[in-house]
Amino acid sequence: RSTSSFLVVANRLPVDRVGDREWRRSPGGLVTAIAPVMQRRDGAWLGWTGAAGEELKPFDHDGMHLIPVPLSAREVELYYEGFSNATLWPLYHDVVAPPVYSRVFWDAYRAVNERFARAAADVADPGAVVWIQDYHLQLVPMILRRLRPDLKIGFFLHIPFPPIELFCQLPWRSEIVEGLLGADLVGFQRPGGASNFLRLCRRLLGLHTHRNEIYVDGRTVRVDAFPISVDFAEFDQLARDPRVQDRAKEIRAELGDPEHVLLGVDRLDYTKGIGQRLKAFGELLDEGVITPDEAVFVQVATPTREGVPAYARLRNEIELRVGRINGEHGMLGRQPISYLHQSYDREELAALYCAADVLVVTPLRDGMNLVAKEYVSCRFDLRGALVLSEFAGAADELRQAFLVNPYDIEGMKRAMLAAMRATPHELARRMRSLRRRVATHNVDKWANDFLSALEER
Ligand code: UDP
Repeated sequence: RSTSSFLVVANRLPVDRVGDREWRRSPGGLVTAIAPVMQRRDGAWLGWTGAAGEELKPFDHDGMHLIPVPLSAREVELYYEGFSNATLWPLYHDVVAPPVYSRVFWDAYRAVNERFARAAADVADPGAVVWIQDYHLQLVPMILRRLRPDLKIGFFLHIPFPPIELFCQLPWRSEIVEGLLGADLVGFQRPGGASNFLRLCRRLLGLHTHRNEIYVDGRTVRVDAFPISVDFAEFDQLARDPRVQDRAKEIRAELGDPEHVLLGVDRLDYTKGIGQRLKAFGELLDEGVITPDEAVFVQVATPTREGVPAYARLRNEIELRVGRINGEHGMLGRQPISYLHQSYDREELAALYCAADVLVVTPLRDGMNLVAKEYVSCRFDLRGALVLSEFAGAADELRQAFLVNPYDIEGMKRAMLAAMRATPHELARRMRSLRRRVATHNVDKWANDFLSALEER
């Protein structure tokens, strides 16, 4: 088969390699949500395999047609680790780390975006729907439109879109905005991101906008918020599985059956506020408000982007803090923080969610935060409390969480204590409302809402 009427274009293909020749579908809601549409519409997915220098022919994997786009080792360094993860990532997350502005990164970003756009142009049926994903590929919409004006082009940004004052630091700001404006529909996680983008189009490019539409080159571009979500039913079922429940009991026992288990699950990223939350927990111990017998903090910090220098620094900083707190408050064979620099599969994560009395999610800025929604999906028992940063996209929807400002250490201490001390009745009231939200706004709804808005264009 050479062409498709539905294309997804993303930095990565939705598969990971197992061994030398086998592939396995990557975990995560995006693939699950899009797979039915792919099958219905004979769709194809374009993306990188994850291995530098690898050139593969298109292939099929569990009902999906996959088209690899190659990246050289140098492009991985400049386009992926460089412009995507050392420039755009910190800039779009409120500059919580200083972005690197490098012309060499930019040149590689443009060249790779060009390659993705050409690959998509080659395989799209006349009038096909093309859905481009995320910050790695913001130039693809316009390049693709110039090559193939017949296509319906949608773009979704999974990370936050920053206020104009921050975005305008970027030396290539106009090119990025123009790149995005090649789409018929530009989707953001939060209404705030959509309005930042609309304002930017008016102020920076002098474009005319009306409500959530932008007028450009005789076309209109629609801008809107589509908060991404998780497969609620899948996590709910997983959590009810007796094996997961047994494992949750085992985890609590391994931790010494403390009264309160607090949990954090994040990539080890400087946007996640891991240091701030551990500081708050450490101070509660210092002040004797809680004792190491009654509360244990489990922090899963998944390895990520180890080729980017800021991440190596963060790892040192976090591990120093964990070491200090454990050194001061630990006892032989018992430590207040269980720190795990490892990655877990869904079963183990579900068991951890079920074992935790309090999930602490305190990013300084986060597009959505799926971990928060997964926790809620797992707590069919209506127990468990969610402490959630107001700077995560999820805070727009999860209003019954214990909402915190992660920069306010005292506020976080109060919220963690309130979560630990809440009555079962209050926890159930909050969790019921949180679950209703995630159950009705699951990842299928996200994909369907975006695609029907795109089809209407
Ligand atoms: N995750 C995982 N194993 C781990 C830690 C996390 O599979 O050890 C998954 C988690 O279930 C979630 C995703 O990684 O689906 C993290 O998404 P989130 O939106 O919370 O943060 P991101 O990493 O995208 O910034």
